[in-house]
Amino acid sequence: MNTLAGKTAVITGAASGIGRAVAFTFANAGAAVAIADLDRDGAAAVAEQIRRAGGRAVGVKMDVTSETDVARGIDQAAQAFGSIDVLVSNAGIQIVGPIDRYTFADWKKMQSIHLDGAFLTTKAALKYMYEADRGGVVIYMGSVHSHEGSALKSAYVTAKHGLIGLARVLAKEGAAHNVRSHVVCPGFVKTPLVDKQIPEQAAALGISEQEVIERVMLGDTVDGEFTDAQDIARTVLFLASFPSAALTGQSLVVSHGWCMR
Ligand code: NAD
Repeated sequence: MNTLAGKTAVITGAASGIGRAVAFTFANAGAAVAIADLDRDGAAAVAEQIRRAGGRAVGVKMDVTSETDVARGIDQAAQAFGSIDVLVSNAGIQIVGPIDRYTFADWKKMQSIHLDGAFLTTKAALKYMYEADRGGVVIYMGSVHSHEGSALKSAYVTAKHGLIGLARVLAKEGAAHNVRSHVVCPGFVKTPLVDKQIPEQAAALGISEQEVIERVMLGDTVDGEFTDAQDIARTVLFLASFPSAALTGQSLVVSHGWCMR
């Protein structure tokens, strides 16, 4: 179904993993998509794949921690397709380590990508969404770690909790302009971000990589399964195409039952 026909979406971090899956799902639902990523070549490649499949897409080089980069990238997407209707603020990284050995530089890098990135992309997109109150939807990629804590993830958990606050404030401020907001909270999804963490966590916890997967990552799910990028993309599409503010300011956990709130 073309539930996003005529809409333009900007998806950050869309050169890989979850963002890439969201971009394809949105394009299949009729949206024109801007693939915004630090990885210029990766973004261009995903946009090209979508165009080859008959969709509308443009690759945009964007470092979400840079105000000028974000403003330029969002403007570029709006110029390409007319305006901005949906923002999926998804770019993210992971740096694990115990608090007492976590460097301040890594802490700041994590807050900058996850929180500064969410703020800057939101502010730039609202310029278009607030125009004549045309409205839009902003979806932040949170995590089960928007609701739960895990050892070794102080910076990530702090940032992901913060996104819920931003989404709630935007739901209230944006309502008068027909803007809605949500946080989608995935469990573990097998992407490069998670593949990198498995050996790091095994070394930090002194257990095998298999134990990291079975105990740390999937031990509390109802079925021992990874969440799939498609599951997340489907959820983001549902929230992006929901027709009214009956649904706004929510966080939706998609985690095979790992987290139930
Ligand atoms: P990924 O590593 O596959 O993709 C992340 C993308 O973000 C990459 O293309 C990377 O180039 C881009 N990126 C990194 N820093 C950037 C910056 N400063 N500016 C612009 N782009 C930047 O990771 P993923 O697993 O698809 O993660 C996407 C989002 O989902 C992240 O916010 C992550 O925290 C969240 N998440 C992932 C999981 C999981 O298990 N994979 C679970 C919960 C939440």
